[in-house]
Amino acid sequence: MKRHNFNSGPSILPDEVLRRASEAVIDFNGLGLSILEIGHRTPWFTEVIEEGRSLVKELMGLDDTYSVLFLQGGATTQFMQVPLNLLPVGGHAAYIKNGIWGSKAIKEASVFGQADVIGDTSDRNHSYIQKTFSVPDGSSYLHYTSNNTVEGTQWHTLPEAGQTPLIADMSSDIFSRPVAFDKHALIYAGAQKNAGAAGTTIVAIKKDMLGKTGRNISPILDYEGHIKAESMLNTPPVFAVYVSMLTMRWIKEQGGLAEMEKRAKQRADLFYSALDNLEVFTPIVDKQDRSLMNATFTTSNKDLEAPFLELCKENAMVGVKGHRSVGGLRVSMYNAMPLSSVQALVDLMEKFNQANK
Ligand code: PMP
Repeated sequence: MKRHNFNSGPSILPDEVLRRASEAVIDFNGLGLSILEIGHRTPWFTEVIEEGRSLVKELMGLDDTYSVLFLQGGATTQFMQVPLNLLPVGGHAAYIKNGIWGSKAIKEASVFGQADVIGDTSDRNHSYIQKTFSVPDGSSYLHYTSNNTVEGTQWHTLPEAGQTPLIADMSSDIFSRPVAFDKHALIYAGAQKNAGAAGTTIVAIKKDMLGKTGRNISPILDYEGHIKAESMLNTPPVFAVYVSMLTMRWIKEQGGLAEMEKRAKQRADLFYSALDNLEVFTPIVDKQDRSLMNATFTTSNKDLEAPFLELCKENAMVGVKGHRSVGGLRVSMYNAMPLSSVQALVDLMEKFNQANK
């Protein structure tokens, strides 16, 4: 029996992707070899990574002034690699502190230079998006987290960066909606939510941002070296890149980002309207800033949390517990989630509400 998968990441993937990926583990494209057994410099794999790169550009509408990389080390490594490559020695960059992931990015940037925190929503446990701030003159870039996986908030408009290059951690809402991707100088995302399996991180960089830090960058962490080597500076995560490519193919076949957004809105409307109407559950995030991907909430009486989670378990629903740092409840509704799973959860919440109000 397939479970209803509300995991926050790694998380639900399309059945079609799982089927193709599992076939490739046994026999990749009828080669008589597993995808796990082929060299990364063979045409068999270079075609995969090439298609992956071009799908990223196509889905994001990016031209050749951008390069796309498939790196390792997760989005967390990008918290470090972004300032290492883009924050000049003695320079400063602006950061918006919307949640725990953004806070980690700030910590890493502070190792390399001055990270100015120009927006900070910790006063209300990051339950809203602060949309007004001013970017200090001469900032090398403005960094924000487009969707806060743990707190359940999402930017529904782009931050106003003026002339300052915009950098986004899109780990938990990449490919879920059309965005003005080309208004960004750099976008990064761990693949393990909407973009495939854990093990690779997608980075799209406007090339003219590079080579300006005056810093000696370790070759393995230098974006320019990775671009020159076409993500083959060392052995790339072959299988993760393949799963990412399949996931992007699936998104394209389904109708692209506009279709993903339509489905995300249907799921979120269904879930949030139930949440707003049921007495025993309480939303956390300000209405206008709610994430279409991760919905956070609590039970109005703390003692009801454990029985509700037990009920979810009995009904084959996983991933309903909040992040360990904040507690409460959270459901993640990524691209591959069918509306029927959200309907099943809403039915269960209604039943639980009836029994406990
Ligand atoms: N940024 C965001 C928005 C995330 O949701 C996560 C992980 N869930 C990370 C960064 C960290 O990603 P990783 O575990 O791939 O380093």
